[in-house]
Amino acid sequence: ALERVAGPLAAEAIRRLRAGRVRRIPGYDGEFGRIELFDPAEREKLLGQTALFGLPAGRRGAKAPQAQAERPPKKKEKPQPRPGQTLEGLASLNEGQRLAVMSEAPAIAVIAGPGTGKTGTLVARIAYLIEERGVSPEEITAVTFTNQAAAEMRARLGARLGDGISLDGMTIGTFHAVCLGLLDKKALLGQSEQLALLRELLRAAGSDADPKKTLRAISEKKCGGSAREPVDEGLYAAYCARLAALGARDLDDLLLDALALSDAPPRRFSHLLVDEFQDVNAVQRRLIRKWSAGGKGLFVIGDPDQSIYGFRGASADCFAELERDLPALVTITLGENYRSSPEILAAAGALIGHNPGGRRPLKAARGPGAQVRLVGAESAFAEAVFIAAEIGRMAGGVDMLSAGKAQAADGARAFSEIAVLARTRRQLELIESCLLHNDIPCVVSGREDALESDAVQGALAFFRFVREPGDAAALQTALVQGFGCGRAEAEAAQSAVRAGLTQGARPDAALLLAAGCPKVFAAAWAEYAELMGRESPQRLIERFAAALGGQAALSRLADMAVFFREMGAFLDALTLGEEADLLRAAGKGYASGAVRLMTLHGAKGLEFPVVFCAGLSEGSLPLVRQDGPADVEEERRLLFVGMTRAREELILTGFAPDSPFLSELPGALLAGRERAKRPAPQVRQMSLF
Ligand code: ATP
Ligand code: MG
Repeated sequence: ALERVAGPLAAEAIRRLRAGRVRRIPGYDGEFGRIELFDPAEREKLLGQTALFGLPAGRRGAKAPQAQAERPPKKKEKPQPRPGQTLEGLASLNEGQRLAVMSEAPAIAVIAGPGTGKTGTLVARIAYLIEERGVSPEEITAVTFTNQAAAEMRARLGARLGDGISLDGMTIGTFHAVCLGLLDKKALLGQSEQLALLRELLRAAGSDADPKKTLRAISEKKCGGSAREPVDEGLYAAYCARLAALGARDLDDLLLDALALSDAPPRRFSHLLVDEFQDVNAVQRRLIRKWSAGGKGLFVIGDPDQSIYGFRGASADCFAELERDLPALVTITLGENYRSSPEILAAAGALIGHNPGGRRPLKAARGPGAQVRLVGAESAFAEAVFIAAEIGRMAGGVDMLSAGKAQAADGARAFSEIAVLARTRRQLELIESCLLHNDIPCVVSGREDALESDAVQGALAFFRFVREPGDAAALQTALVQGFGCGRAEAEAAQSAVRAGLTQGARPDAALLLAAGCPKVFAAAWAEYAELMGRESPQRLIERFAAALGGQAALSRLADMAVFFREMGAFLDALTLGEEADLLRAAGKGYASGAVRLMTLHGAKGLEFPVVFCAGLSEGSLPLVRQDGPADVEEERRLLFVGMTRAREELILTGFAPDSPFLSELPGALLAGRERAKRPAPQVRQMSLF
């Protein structure tokens, strides 16, 4: 069509631009750079053809795109496109990615394997919408799987779009965060608080049911799922009644209340983009349908082979479901993996090929690299000792840390280039202690059991209440778990505080005392209300622990708080954070680079130059649970996710007996298996078990 209207020169120019076949001439001293599409000789030749095709004479000298690019950008309020910028970005995309970025279809699904640039494509599309299609950032919502991914996406876009465009109005966040932004304000119970509440209800009912399982069952029931685990009706009613009495929502209510909103989807959903679509659950899928109805564009990306949240109601055939719902859906696939070496892809591909669906072609864009290593140890402890020793060796000897060097020596790895992944947090604990034994600093991601202790929950509730005196649930928990009050006493104090506040009283120590809160509580409230905005969350927690006890439990919390500058952000992360959002610094010197320890679930979407996948042993992977057989296909996907996080080096470790997945790896790997040295007897720390 272009050729008909503007002639072959313009058509060829656009074709080249799209394919990235351009010459870039950098700018200097305030001069704009230029993009050239043709050599002068080529141009002459093509212009000659134009004459041949009888283009009207006046069109001949039509301005090349570069002429426009040289015009200085005008100042205006609307998002300011910066010509050339997105195109520059587009040039580095491959054909499929560019198609996904530029497609004008109202609903697009990008289904592609790991490392094929899905997330990058989503970011490029947002930039493209803003710059080239003139979409206002207020009309865009991007849903990510973690808050950290949301923050990174915003940062990448900010860097890419430059100062001229404010992204403040754009919505980027997890489903929970996006829903929070839609609803009226109410106290929110995060997972830990939900568990605490359930523990108490179970205790009162004389039940010895597992609170975590009960919570999952309640959540399934709430979300209208087919409850795999039946939930006791009385308990369910008591749970809901308690939430209502506290005037609070739990995490499920957040999604369900957003779904129940009767208004038409607000403007921010005009363009809705969703990453990791394979892991959205049924309620989230309904939210997507609701939000995108009547919108201008839905863009979802994901990989069915990386669907690892089946237990939360995610389903690998969500793409098929979407296609049934939206017959106009355009599906784009990407086939080239830019992340991992061919060796890593071959190993990961062999594994996932054992799931139904045959072999998955994943072309490696990178050149050949190191062989994947498989290492067998005689026990979990020997495996952990091996990993620690190996990381020390890769980093050029751990002495470098004691010498205070932040940067690794030539050829050596920085600690921050290395991640150790395992199926369970338990396994990570053992590895952590071995790393610390060798003075290797690490950062552990995830929601650890220590968070559920009374001391931690009490302290956190206390800070939540200081931040938000209307948070009745926080006040109760703070009084009971942090300050040793009885439940009845706490409830009475809570309603008195509430009554006082609704009558317009100022939240202060006097009000708390009058409501029957203990003196020490009221004093602490006054002190921390003063300090909250001034001190770092780490300092606040340390101070609280020193004055009010619970030091041992709270020191872990302080190690998590170091990643936040402000208490409010830390509290929000604890309530709304996914696994990957919660980090804990372990060992001295973590600030200058640390090994990352995380579960396979928590590693989703990330990449590292060196990855250890630990615990490839029978019972650990697939993980055998007490409550039923493992979902072998999902466990295989989990290992696949873990292996495909690696860019350059992948080391698979395990101990006898072998994980059945080992026999699914390429034969050469198994044949070349290394044996970890038996740890020296004096290293053995029996207390670890
Ligand atoms: P996952 O399924 O694991 O989430 P993904 O498909 O989202 O992976 P990205 O994280 O977007 O993949 O990209 C993986 C890596 O490949 C990144 O390091 C990215 O910079 C790189 N990459 C993506 N596309 C290209 C490209 N066209 N050229 C060069 N590098 C690319
Ligand atoms: Mg991704």
